[in-house]
Amino acid sequence: MRLVKNALFLALFFCAAADVLAPTNKVLIIGIDGLMPSALAVAQTPNLEELKAAGCYSMRAVNHPVTHSAACWSSMFTGVWGDKHLVNDPGNSFAGNQFTKYPSFFKRLEGANSGLQTLCFARWSPLLTVVPDADVKLSFSSDTAITDETCNRLTNSNPDVLYTILLDVDSAGHTYGWGATVTNYVKEIEKADGRVGQMNAALRSRATYSQENWLVIVLSDHGEHDHPDPERSRMTLHIVSGPSAARGVMWPSPSIVDVCATVLTHMEVAIDPAWNLDCRVEGFPLPAIRYGSSLIFNGNAEATSGTSVYATNRGIAWWFDIADTTLGIYGGNPGFPSPAGPGPTERGTNLFLGGTKTGWISQRIDLSEVASAADASLLSYSLSGWFGGAGAKEDTASLTVNFLDAAGTVLGTRRIGDVTAADRRLSTGLVERSAEGDLPRECRFAEFVLATTAAQSGTSVNDASADNLSFVLNLKTDPPFSILPQPSVPGHFSVVAPGLAGHIYTLERSVHFLGWTSVAESTGTGPPIMLTDPSAPVEGAFYRVGRRRP
Ligand SMILES: [Zn+2]
Ligand SMILES: [Zn+2]
Repeated sequence: MRLVKNALFLALFFCAAADVLAPTNKVLIIGIDGLMPSALAVAQTPNLEELKAAGCYSMRAVNHPVTHSAACWSSMFTGVWGDKHLVNDPGNSFAGNQFTKYPSFFKRLEGANSGLQTLCFARWSPLLTVVPDADVKLSFSSDTAITDETCNRLTNSNPDVLYTILLDVDSAGHTYGWGATVTNYVKEIEKADGRVGQMNAALRSRATYSQENWLVIVLSDHGEHDHPDPERSRMTLHIVSGPSAARGVMWPSPSIVDVCATVLTHMEVAIDPAWNLDCRVEGFPLPAIRYGSSLIFNGNAEATSGTSVYATNRGIAWWFDIADTTLGIYGGNPGFPSPAGPGPTERGTNLFLGGTKTGWISQRIDLSEVASAADASLLSYSLSGWFGGAGAKEDTASLTVNFLDAAGTVLGTRRIGDVTAADRRLSTGLVERSAEGDLPRECRFAEFVLATTAAQSGTSVNDASADNLSFVLNLKTDPPFSILPQPSVPGHFSVVAPGLAGHIYTLERSVHFLGWTSVAESTGTGPPIMLTDPSAPVEGAFYRVGRRRP
């Protein structure tokens, strides 16, 4: 009888616990069309600031190289770049799209659970071409109308994933021009911020809000259309906000395709490799820094698919990629390194490739988690990679790591690569290069730049290649140390210890070995340090010196 009662009690307890522990995951995506970060920086946007504070953000999110709405939003919905979805028209045509092969995340969501309420609101009805699978698809003629209906649905219905968009910022750009100095453009950003605030307030006033886990994503598709300066055209804002989101600035910076993986992951829909997506999850806490394994994300170029042509700008997962460097497939083209030629043993399918001209990609990783070890000079690094080119051609690749402090000031730099045709013995393939050193004190970020340099300008082929880029941090092992008793000074007992920087030395005393008492402590800075027992002489005393890391 007692057993049955206990079982019942446990069953009730687990039900209650399940209710508390598993809120319903939901996503609200707010697009602000045509938002330039430099103008956002001067606008008063308290609602966006609030969302940033409750999550993470990037002002350097990368968009599709065709800085127009159709190409950019198609990339967001499908999670693939334009060489797959084929919406690359600056005129915003969806003709020839590959949405059957690369459907929007709405199809993936509905496929996993058709009971989900999925909604897509547009300010321009052709955009709905990309989302045939959403339960509700509506287009609106004003930002006021779309905001009102978004709030209405959030208040009076039960959406699971809702995409909505504001267009007036982009319209202001077309009418008045783009940028921080264009008053009417900045004013429109402030108005959009107010509408974001309305939507967020509606969301948080939901009767069931406490049982829900909302992820709010705010992003833009491009800044000023077609501007050659990517800071004005391709760089935009991403905010990922909510209880599940990481906090602070997102490193490495995200791309517009990443929204797809993020929505699916938050909604617990597993991403099938067969979908051949180009995206990664953004905005969730990253795994802790591990010593002894590479900290470069996607250093092996395998996170997304490569190409067999000398394409421009493939969009490389985890890398800030606005220049020409791309991903090639081993053996995919007669000019590419082959699967069996000179190169790494574990080479996978893809390598980094110059593409069509001189280019680069970069990645910044946050090392603040290991700040105390860095400042105590306890960390060494090992930088390595494979670098190559084709035949007698002198296109070369290099990997540079810049060590940055908290303010982004460069503390030091290291470069490897630059493998010449002679180094390769004129073969088409890759050769390994590496370097080692100590992580500078005060280092908080490591920024990696893979540069692929075409030997001749004006050529349409750049064969510089690289693979298996790696940056490993190691906690240095401490050398053994010995202590030196000092000549006796009446009333004192002193020793000299080596004083290794960042290490704490403790002098301990024991009387007849009945426990140990710390009598002096000092932190090493390099030169030997003296430790003194001020109470000496103590009858029957023994001494020992210990060393530890902070
Ligand atoms: Zn747009
Ligand atoms: Zn526009």
